[in-house]
Amino acid sequence: MTQTVLITGCSSGIGRETAKLFQQQGWNVVATMRSPEQEQELNQLQNVTCLKLDVCDGDSIQQAVDQALELFGAVDVLVNNAGYGLIGAFETLSREQIERQFQTNVFGLMELTRALLPHFRQRNSGTIINIASFAGRSTVPLYSVYHASKWAVEGFSDSLAFELSSFNIRVKIIEPGTIRTEFWGRSTDRENQTGVDVYTDYSNKVLGFIDGTAAKISSQPQAVAKAILAAATDGRKKLRYVVGHDARFTLTVRKLLPDFLYNNAIAMVFHRRLG
Ligand code: NAP
Repeated sequence: MTQTVLITGCSSGIGRETAKLFQQQGWNVVATMRSPEQEQELNQLQNVTCLKLDVCDGDSIQQAVDQALELFGAVDVLVNNAGYGLIGAFETLSREQIERQFQTNVFGLMELTRALLPHFRQRNSGTIINIASFAGRSTVPLYSVYHASKWAVEGFSDSLAFELSSFNIRVKIIEPGTIRTEFWGRSTDRENQTGVDVYTDYSNKVLGFIDGTAAKISSQPQAVAKAILAAATDGRKKLRYVVGHDARFTLTVRKLLPDFLYNNAIAMVFHRRLG
């Protein structure tokens, strides 16, 4: 039987590469995106159906799930990938910006999971793959709200894995390091909406350093797609899949060092750069 995967955020980056990889492996792919009418590549591929799904819109979530089930009869794997980064000093970010970040990265992911769970339970089978980040288990300055959203995805997924195991539903967490995608361009919100300007100099220096480092060390989105395929098919109970040498290094150091030493090390990295 051909298996079916439903993926969010397929208009670019990790979602797009994942859709292509699953298609190449012979899966039915429900490639969802906010603007499927603009899609030109995925909808030309055999067994790929592009559907509209905005994770901030409950109706579009339910419609996409209903359409996918009608078209393919079943969904075997859900990939919660859609997301973006709200970056900046916490005090410069508005309540609306923070709510939108959580609506997209956390509540949307929960909502779509909820929409597919009855189907997975009925079949006594299913895999939920949540794209978190190494930023879901480590921290740097100026990413507080993005970190909070990804730490939320990690905690949610960890706990969910326990309660769904008796229904034979697997939960997997993907933790990419820095990946060369639109995340570093149009998928970042860096707008100072509060007018607080005391952080400007600090922000320019820190974000300049982070952006410069990311550009040098980032991995390709295809590497994340491969990890997602492994999580969907390896039959293992393994929960976390780390992608990229930067993520592997950071999370290993994070695990080995006590909190105070790890935080001192991160603080030193940034203070040295700030002069
Ligand atoms: P990307 O190329 O910018 O892709 C983000 C995707 O999310 C786009 O397709 C975007 O769609 C979609 N999206 C945003 N808001 C949405 C909404 N409300 N409903 C549906 N789709 C929405 O960046 P990416 O790197 O592939 O990001 C994918 C995931 O990986 C994100 O969850 C991100 O946090 C995570 N991640 C990225 C990195 C990295 O360094 N790139 C590292 C770790 C984790 P539109 O085209 O409609 O905007």
